[in-house]
Amino acid sequence: MNTDDTNKIISLKNVSYTYAKNTPFAKKALDDINLDFYSNEYTAIIGATGSGKSTLIQHLNGLLKPDQGEVLVNGIDTKDKKSQKDLRKKVGLVFQYAQYQLFEETVYKDIEFGLIKRNIPEDQRKQRVLDTAKMVGLTQENLNASPYDLSGGQKKRAAIAGILVLKPEILVLDEPAAGLDPEGTRELFSIIQNLHDNKECTVILVAHSMELVAQYAKRVIVLHDSKVVMDGTRDEVFGNVEQLTKLGLDVPEVTKIMIKLKISHPELNDHIYTVSDAKEEILKHINLTKKSNQFK
Ligand code: ADP
Repeated sequence: MNTDDTNKIISLKNVSYTYAKNTPFAKKALDDINLDFYSNEYTAIIGATGSGKSTLIQHLNGLLKPDQGEVLVNGIDTKDKKSQKDLRKKVGLVFQYAQYQLFEETVYKDIEFGLIKRNIPEDQRKQRVLDTAKMVGLTQENLNASPYDLSGGQKKRAAIAGILVLKPEILVLDEPAAGLDPEGTRELFSIIQNLHDNKECTVILVAHSMELVAQYAKRVIVLHDSKVVMDGTRDEVFGNVEQLTKLGLDVPEVTKIMIKLKISHPELNDHIYTVSDAKEEILKHINLTKKSNQFK
């Protein structure tokens, strides 16, 4: 984590938020949240359903405003009325089922929509749409098609392109894998990874799959009952199996296998969170065993 203050891009200070405040249906969804996000991070937010993840990320671009505390994006308070447009430009938010929110006649027009709303001249719009389509792996044929003719994964990529075309510094995604098959999910996460690596886009996403979180995120934040209960590197958070289990959360399946294997093979490292690392760890020990057998 690059926690140098100059890289701080979003700060939440004592943020609380209650839905239907002052009514019998009031529901506190965020309770005194303090968090800082830094540029170029790749952060996953995890937690049980109802723990406050969606509410939290909607605070990051000012879609929801805290009723206590403050959210600062590049030092600007999200409650500042004058900065709303800038804020949405800086922080691109992709909703959970964004693939069902495409509404234009063609995919091209859908991606172009935000540029028209921002009065970007036509000659610049075309290049930006084409560049963004390429970034997310949509072809010219896809661009000419109706959104309804795309696969679920392509629709999702079109929805993300509609946000990316506005060149946000920070990309926030709520459950990007929702509604996608494993193939579509893999493709999407590798696109997000490329954006993070090549465009140096800061990524903050909500995810359910611990496998995906372990594979991609560098930082993991855990919400429970509207509060942040864990925040650290991937290894720090997934290394604390006991606390995650207490919170009703899982660790990647491969980690559970490594923990079990360690019982009969104490030489193995069980702080392993991805299949490729598990493979490497197991092969390393097989090789060592083979070598030591050669000298017997
Ligand atoms: P998560 O994304 O972790 O599932 P949410 O942020 O969606 O959690 O919800 C946090 C809490 O706020 C839940 O108890 C949920 O029922 C409640 N909530 C979410 N949206 C609304 C809403 N529009 N009106 C009232 N309560 C809501």
